[in-house]
Amino acid sequence: MSMAEWEARAGELELEWRAFIDGRFVAAQSGATFDCINPANGQLLTKVAACDAADAELAVEAARWAFTDRRWAGMAPKYRKQLLLRFAALLREHQEELALLETIDMGKPIGDAMNYDAPAAANCIAWNAEAIDKFYDQVAPVEEDALALVTREPIGVVAAIVPWNFPLVMACWKLGPALATGNSVILKPSEKSPLSALKLAALAKQAGIPDGVFNVLPGFGHTVGEALAMHMDVDCITFTGSTRVGKHLLECAGKSNLKRTFMECGGKSPNIILSDAPDLDLAARVAASAIFYNQGEVCTAASRLLVQNNIKSAFVDRVLEYAYDWVCDNPIDPATRLGAMVDAAQMKQVLNYIEIGKQEGATLLLGGEQVLRESGGYYIAPTIFDDVHPNMRIYREEIFGPVLSITGFDTLEEAINLANDSCYGLAAAVWTADLTRAVKASRALRAGTVFVNNWDGGDMTMPFGGYKQSGNGRDKSIHALEKYTELKSTWIQLT
Ligand code: NAD
Repeated sequence: MSMAEWEARAGELELEWRAFIDGRFVAAQSGATFDCINPANGQLLTKVAACDAADAELAVEAARWAFTDRRWAGMAPKYRKQLLLRFAALLREHQEELALLETIDMGKPIGDAMNYDAPAAANCIAWNAEAIDKFYDQVAPVEEDALALVTREPIGVVAAIVPWNFPLVMACWKLGPALATGNSVILKPSEKSPLSALKLAALAKQAGIPDGVFNVLPGFGHTVGEALAMHMDVDCITFTGSTRVGKHLLECAGKSNLKRTFMECGGKSPNIILSDAPDLDLAARVAASAIFYNQGEVCTAASRLLVQNNIKSAFVDRVLEYAYDWVCDNPIDPATRLGAMVDAAQMKQVLNYIEIGKQEGATLLLGGEQVLRESGGYYIAPTIFDDVHPNMRIYREEIFGPVLSITGFDTLEEAINLANDSCYGLAAAVWTADLTRAVKASRALRAGTVFVNNWDGGDMTMPFGGYKQSGNGRDKSIHALEKYTELKSTWIQLT
């Protein structure tokens, strides 16, 4: 579709703005709403229900009742699977609408939303649905006069609190395994990107997911998010977002009912380029895309580029050449590669880091400013700093924008030390043609994912998550299914 056609589609969208509780769309009990803004032009899209503790109460009650009467948890896995596959099929059928909602709500290019976000969300639901009736429990090897069962049961009421950078995908990474294992779910999307979550609710209803099993509460973190985190009848908080809020949610769990907590948090991921990389041109192209994709608003953005000094100058030139291809433009144009920052606050935060980088003495090679001001939207030019020292804030802190920091090194050992010199440990990469060096580096890198000669390789079969302050637990793969269950030991004495 052309840009004009996408714009026409956007104009025809009927945006859902109400919360979804117990199978019905409802306004917040207080009647309050918040503004949902299109970051491409700063214009109001719609006003959305601003849920708070009262709405959380209703949703928890509905989710608990749906769990207790076993309308979902008690359904045979093969039937849950059928309903979830229908849900996934509906996501595929509505791919264009879902992609469009992501683009107008958070500013990502429509091409990316069509190629990645919408299909990945459907694929995630389908993968978890397909897996659930292949999941066996265990019989323990004990005495003859007993039968000892180790079974997995759903945890109960799961609250999923998600961010705005991949609203649909992050939601489905939680929903897929939590629903497949028989839990009731309350999804709290980010206040910056609530629209696709509300569409998910409509499609889940259409697919036949029973009322109360899946609820969506749009609203702010400090109101409805906090109410869920502190609730005595929520059994699990599964979260993706900043490390700061992740730590706070752990405290809430401790202060309330010791609910299960899974935190997927921030990152400051290193990308190590050794001079013997098999294809330095590819490495340079990927170094640019790994920081500029999704406007750098990616938890695994390769924001620290570590380059061996004997090739550094030529390599940085190549990265710059590829960076010129990342031009900011209206995200609803299918030709756009770099869209808008999610909102004015995020743009301000990134611009602030750019100022800090300049003041700290890093060398600004590219960008460093707001662009397309006349659009009314929030755009930042791709930005590259060289000569970044490990004690600089732009080296240490997550910027969450299109800002690359480059640092040189001489030996692999030095590169590993630089890479691990971070409170985060989400992802890392090493580029080398030497298998032994690749394996030694991947073992030494303290990160949940290590890429060798690529960035962003992955699949639903592979766990995703972080070491250190990047979080605990894992999304995706069989490990994610396991985490939404409790283990039960049943000892049956035989007479
Ligand atoms: P954020 O932590 O500000 O917000 C995330 C969610 O938490 C939102 O829904 C927000 O409303 C909610 N929240 C905020 N305060 C809360 C509170 N007191 N109680 C309950 N809920 C609260 O993060 P963000 O700005 O939306 O997202 C960006 C962050 O997410 C980055 O740090 C990024 O690295 C991280 N992220 C991590 C992964 C991963 O898989 N590790 C993936 C994507 C994004």
